[in-house]
Formats: sequence, C-alpha cells, structure tokens
Amino acid sequence: MNHNLTWDKEHIWHPYSSLKSPNSTFYIQSANGVNLQLDNGLKLIDGMSSWWAAIHGYNHPVLNQALIEQSKNMSHVMFGGLTHQPAIDLSKKLIELTDPSLDFVFFSDSGSVAVEVALKMALQYWIAQGIHGKNKFISFNRGYHGDTFAAMSVCDPVTGMHQLFSGFLHQNYFAQAPTCFSKDLNKYKTIDLSSVEKLLMNNNDIAAIIIEPIVQGAGGMRIYCPEYLAALNNLAEKYQVLLIFDEIATGFGRTGTLFAYEQANIAPDILCLGKALTGGYLSLAATLCNQKVVDGIHYDNQGVLMHGPTFMANPLACSIANASIDLLLSTPWQEKILKIEHQLKQQLAECIDFQHVSDVRVKGAIAVIELDQNVDTNALCEDFVEQGVWIRPFAKLIYLMPPFIIEPEQLSQLTQAIKFVLTKYY
Ligand SMILES: *Cc1c(COP(=O)(O)O)cnc(C)c1O
Repeated sequence: MNHNLTWDKEHIWHPYSSLKSPNSTFYIQSANGVNLQLDNGLKLIDGMSSWWAAIHGYNHPVLNQALIEQSKNMSHVMFGGLTHQPAIDLSKKLIELTDPSLDFVFFSDSGSVAVEVALKMALQYWIAQGIHGKNKFISFNRGYHGDTFAAMSVCDPVTGMHQLFSGFLHQNYFAQAPTCFSKDLNKYKTIDLSSVEKLLMNNNDIAAIIIEPIVQGAGGMRIYCPEYLAALNNLAEKYQVLLIFDEIATGFGRTGTLFAYEQANIAPDILCLGKALTGGYLSLAATLCNQKVVDGIHYDNQGVLMHGPTFMANPLACSIANASIDLLLSTPWQEKILKIEHQLKQQLAECIDFQHVSDVRVKGAIAVIELDQNVDTNALCEDFVEQGVWIRPFAKLIYLMPPFIIEPEQLSQLTQAIKFVLTKYY
C-alpha cells in the first residue's frame, strides 16, 4: 500500500471517522475536469462534486487564473477596518442575483459559520428591539445545517448528534420533515404544515424558522415541493417569526434554478450560501439578510452584529467566487442542468425495480436512490472505484450530484456503475 495512505490511516481524522477502524480511503494525486486521478493510474469520474461544491469540475483554467492573479495582488488582509475590491464585487453579485429584498452580506469562512451567523442575526433582531425570550428556533426533522454547536442544535434530532451532546446542545423545536416526495408526483398536492403551525401557536419563544429549501441534503437527500416552502413563508408571516433559508447545498444552480427558493416565488429574511460559492476551490460562505433584519439589529442605532472571523471575506476566496459566478452565468447552465436531470431520470428510473430500492428521485443535477437498509459505504466505494467512478453513499442513500460540466457519456458511466452495484448487492 502507498505508504502515505498508511500514514493517513494512522494519524489523520477524516469526516465522521475513527482512527481505530478507519474507513477505506483513496489517495488522489490530482483532479482535472470531472476526473479524479488515483495514484495507481486509475481515473475516476466524479459523481459528488466534492459535496456540492465543484460545479465547474476541477483544475478549471478560469478559476486557476483568478486565484493566481489575486495572489499577486494580495492573498489576505484583515476585514476589520479594511475592505477590498474582491469583497465589494462579490457582495454586489450576490445582492444582484438573489431576491431584491436581500441587500446585506456577511462573509464567513464555512457553511456552518454562515448558519451560526444567521442564527445570531435572528437572535439579535429580537434582543435589540427589547423583545426578550425569543431564543429558540423551529427546524425540521431530517434537516442538516452544519457541525458547529448552534448549527447542530437545528440538525435532525436523531441523526444530528443530539444524543451524544445532550446536556450541551441548545434545545430547539422540530417540526415534521416536509413530506411531499418526488416519487409519487400526486403527493405534491398534500402539503402538511400542521406540526409547524402547532409549534408556532403554542410557543412564544421562537426567533426564527430555519430550513433547507426544496432539498434536505445531508439529513436524507429529501426533495419537497415549492408549494410547501410558500406555505411555510405564509406561516412565518402570520406568526411574525423570521425565516432563514439554508441554501449552502442547493445554491448556484444545483436544483435547476440559481437558488432553490426561487421556485416558490418567495424570499427569506436571511439566506445562507456556501459550498459552490467558490466552485469548490476555497472555503467561503455568506449570510445575506433584508432591511427588516438590519433595522431590527440596529433598533437603537447602536447595535452591532457580534461576529467577525479572522479570514472574513478572504480576497483569494472572494476573487475565485467572482470568477466562478461569472463562469456559471456565461454558460447555458439552466439548459445543461435540465439535460442532466432528464438523463438521470431516464437512466435511473428502472432502479425502482430492484428488491431493496425504496425510492428513486431526481431534481436538477441531483439523483438519489434510497434503499430499505443501510449500505456498507466502504464496500460500495471500493466497487465504484473498480467501475472507474467516485460515488460515496451514506446511510440508505446512493446519490449523485456531478459537476455541471459532465458529458452525457460520463454521466452514463455513473448511472451504469450504480446499476452494477444494485445488481450485485440489492
Ligand atoms: C454542508 C452544509 C452546511 C455546512 O457547511 P460547512 O462548509 O461544511 O460548514 C450547512 N448547511 C447545509 C445545507 C449544508 O449542506
């Protein structure tokens, strides 16, 4: 075995991993386009976009150039008391591309922190107005919002580590997960928000509702309908709580629209962005909000938003984000994602006939095969690598979210590999 890999196993933690019984790990030498190059010469077609992020694939000349140019100018300066063009340009783009009501931007260094900032904005909104005790959030079963503590406190209460950290985690309210799956399109009609409304009716300590619009990601890759989101917005207005959308996974085209919430023709008070923001190059996130939130936080004209990461608005990351957004918008991305969606539906539809497949769902450039049992991630990854693809299932889910630049033949290889594995095991 590659001795670097041995070192890695013995000394480095990977996501949600053990050093005593490490997961199988593959050594990547380089990445280019949709290909990940292994050290044994094998090339894998990437079906994961490095967790939603690498929408343009890897080693993209335009993004590389943005990085090089910015590094010659300045790689970083503190954002306290200083500003720079990459941050100004990026804030203009984000304000321009999102709903007209979202006019203010807070930059941070990762998605989880963007969620922390969003929660803090919502709490400070009430505190500054002298309305005390509004210090809880409504979130949803099967939701995922990150791994820092406040973010964890709004993640699914079963899979979200609440048991492990009980006694330390803040207690929030959980509503039923949105139920309108894509499998049976008729189910789109039954929108049940009664559990949300019950919580809003019975509790006056709620600061905000937080949800991932249209797709619940890491908590189960669950797709729900825009009508649900619109109805949720109505409830937030009716009960006068803030609405936070976490688009860290769905932002920048993944679901077929630039932002998933657009499909509901509504807008949140606070919006979190991350992951694909820099095309998967550097860690950067943003929390946007509307005038109402700003006015609340500055109610006495003195309030300050109490957050300020060291690497806030890092110029390298902002420059790449600017280049990534321009690159996306300069391509026929909507058409491309529609084509990916169509091909995924066509090639994966038959998977529903496998004995242990309980659902097949596709939305934009996302495909999900849900099984009736947990998969052996290690075994499946090894099989996928043998098939020349990089697909990493978790829990009961085998899923794809390839870079948008993927060619039809390459996408076929991904869906073929899934069918191969289903045939072998399920
Ligand atoms: C990944 C993710 C986060 C956390 O982002 P990190 O950059 O990993 O901290 C938060 N919310 C959603 C919806 C995500 O998919």
